[in-house]
Amino acid sequence: MSCQVLVLNSGSSSIKFSLFDEQQSKLVSQYNGQITGLGLNAHFTVCGFDNNESISLSKTTDHLSALKYLFDWLKQKLNSNKELFVGHRVVHGGNDFHLPTVVTPEILTKLKKLEPLAPLHQTYNLAAIESLMHIDQAIPQVACFDTAFHANHGKPNNQFALPDQYYEQGVRRYGFHGLSYEYIATELKQTEPELASGKIIVAHLGNGSSLCALNQCKSIDSSMGFSALDGLMMGTRCGSIDAGVILYLLEEKKLNAQQVNDLLYKQSGLLGVSKVSNDMSALLQSEESTAQEAIDLYIHRIIREAGCLLALLKGIDGLVFTAGIGENAAEIRKRICDELVWLGVEIDENANRENCSEISTNDSTVRVLVIPTNEELMIAQHTYEILNNEVSMPRKLAIGN
Ligand code: ADP
Repeated sequence: MSCQVLVLNSGSSSIKFSLFDEQQSKLVSQYNGQITGLGLNAHFTVCGFDNNESISLSKTTDHLSALKYLFDWLKQKLNSNKELFVGHRVVHGGNDFHLPTVVTPEILTKLKKLEPLAPLHQTYNLAAIESLMHIDQAIPQVACFDTAFHANHGKPNNQFALPDQYYEQGVRRYGFHGLSYEYIATELKQTEPELASGKIIVAHLGNGSSLCALNQCKSIDSSMGFSALDGLMMGTRCGSIDAGVILYLLEEKKLNAQQVNDLLYKQSGLLGVSKVSNDMSALLQSEESTAQEAIDLYIHRIIREAGCLLALLKGIDGLVFTAGIGENAAEIRKRICDELVWLGVEIDENANRENCSEISTNDSTVRVLVIPTNEELMIAQHTYEILNNEVSMPRKLAIGN
């Protein structure tokens, strides 16, 4: 029996979903949509091969009722002759989960213990799994982890200079956006095998932003560490910060832990510095000087972190931009590349402006690519491969959309 794979990416106020259909050993995207404004002003939108819909839902819609709505909607779309598999993006796999994992109630309990490590994401990722268990316990669910691609970092890359007991307790640098980096690595291996065998920095620049150093398409290090707060400046997150600032806020400014948490995760980054928006396109259009200041700092932090990864890799053959800002914001790519001219980076301004897949000139010593990420497809493929092996006769997937 062939299958359909529903991919869920559940956040604090929204659930994004994609439905893939297995057709001739390929997973074909059928629908992409989201339920936004959970608990406030819920709205369902979907784009599909046969129709697009946009519907306002009851204001009280929470994660459970949003999923119930989605499953009612899906009933008309699902093929009853196919098995349904569900794959979830789960931000943190901690020390124990290095591979996509079929979720049982016991596994869910273990994953919940990681909630404090990623308060902005993990709780909501798991809420979708738990809600779905209530809706239909028989649907097989797989958790795919954003940390897994970085699981082989090893010491010293995954270490803090804290007493060793904390390392043993899991206080380590994990790295995130792993599903995005894994997708980029898979694409590079297929489309640019020679470059893929070299050294590359991938810049995942979205609401959450990070850099990853790849050597032969394996993750060597990442700008994100213990939590998704580390590294680059982001939409509302501050990125790396001197631990002394946290102590000062707690001890001298008398902020409590929850206030510090909100400050670092929700009120900082582009939003905090600009006081205009957390959204890069809004900042690029804004005439406020603070919007420019926020963009300047965003670029500065990328160059600073890129310098660390460049030194670890001892030079690069390629630089890849991905995610909302990386794929679409030509001005940001140009400013980053202009800071790397010393390295031999040279971009073709027209190609950059048109978001071409390769934006470096022939003379550039570093190839600069723009590759749209597809974390959903990565999750669907993992979910398919793991469940297909468990549920029925294994079928090998042909890679691709
Ligand atoms: P998420 O981390 O939520 O998945 P995305 O990868 O969708 O985020 O990236 C969202 C960011 O991309 C926002 O800051 C948005 O303004 C920015 N972005 C999207 N399109 C453009 C564009 N054309 N120009 C500039 N920024 C853009």
